Amino acid sequence: MKKLLSLLALIIVTLTVNAATYTINDIPNVHLKDKYQFVSDPDGYMSTDAKREVNHHLRSLMDSTSAEVAIVLVESIGSEDMDQFAQRLFDRWKIGKADKDNGLLLLFVMDQRRARIHTGYGLEGIIPDITAKNIINYDIVPHMKEGDIDGAIIKASKSICEICKDPDAVGEIWSDQANDAFSATEEGEFDTIMIMIVLLAFIFSLTLFFNNISRLRGKTNYQKSEIMRHNLWVLAITSILSALSGAIFFILALVLSRHFRNKPIKCDTCGSKMTKLSEEEDNLYLTPAQDREEQLRSVDYDVWLCPTCGETEIFPFKNKTTSYGQCPHCHTYASTLIFDKVTRKPTLTHKGIGVHVFECQYCRRRHEIPYEIPKITPVVPISGGSGRSGGGFSGGSFGGGMSGGGGASGGW
Ligand SMILES: [Zn+2]
Ligand SMILES: [Zn+2]
Repeated sequence: MKKLLSLLALIIVTLTVNAATYTINDIPNVHLKDKYQFVSDPDGYMSTDAKREVNHHLRSLMDSTSAEVAIVLVESIGSEDMDQFAQRLFDRWKIGKADKDNGLLLLFVMDQRRARIHTGYGLEGIIPDITAKNIINYDIVPHMKEGDIDGAIIKASKSICEICKDPDAVGEIWSDQANDAFSATEEGEFDTIMIMIVLLAFIFSLTLFFNNISRLRGKTNYQKSEIMRHNLWVLAITSILSALSGAIFFILALVLSRHFRNKPIKCDTCGSKMTKLSEEEDNLYLTPAQDREEQLRSVDYDVWLCPTCGETEIFPFKNKTTSYGQCPHCHTYASTLIFDKVTRKPTLTHKGIGVHVFECQYCRRRHEIPYEIPKITPVVPISGGSGRSGGGFSGGSFGGGMSGGGGASGGW
């Protein structure tokens, strides 16, 4: 018996805690998180399907008339007056576009068994109080009396949409202020832009590749290999931009570049077929500077040797991604930045001067390249904004609309 009593007490406590009394700050503004959600139903009175249908209608309404409707269902607002609560919630959420005040709030307070339609200034002419009252009396109350919450809200939102979508009404309430974040047409435009980028990148890859091919005629194997290798990195980028449809040209250019690089050549002196030496063997034929470049991987050298007469040919392949520059003293690709120094500090009124100091990793001589340092910009404190919001502060906020308290309430 004692156990049963404590269980009962627990149930009562749980129920009391769960009896949700909302202030305007507690009601989740679902539209803020997702601009196509218009129904705030924190206690879950509506079915998912009904919510989807209502959101669909209200999205279409927003897209075609720019009017914004918010529907709120809460269990309780305590002892607060419902009309005042609606006005305060409307003010806080700023439903409707700021220039047309074309917002509408449909509020349900379940423990009061009452609903309220609260219109923005701009909708007062289109949905006057008498129309709002009719929507409550004929669309909402009969369904609510039967406990059909979904039906009541679907019917009411349909009526509101119908009235606002009347061509005369649209002319009056249309706002050029953008719907929050993406509208359906902008999404469509975004898709079109993406397709254009992919298509252009593919055409660019194709043109670049065949332009390279057209330049091969009459060139040596070394030159052909360099032509195909020259803009490989551009082809790599465009093949990504083309959603990999242009990757075929990148692969072909890479394969051809390798092909021409390894294709046997004939000796200029005796006409015999030359052989390409391995990386270890070729060091014997390279100068110390070239050897250093190979160690630093700034330049790769291919050495071809004629087995008959001993003639050699050396071809340099510069590494496109190396950080080593050419040394102005010995011309070896072994020059690297070792430090920066500031020779004149920048001030508020004058630019500063700095010097990049490079050192050659072969001959060890240094050279300097001066550069400008921008003027110091004074730090301006960011002032806090205030006043009425013109377009909301987040991707999905309502548009800044105001209400003069128009509308109607009714109970069931
Ligand atoms: Zn030879
Ligand atoms: Zn040097």
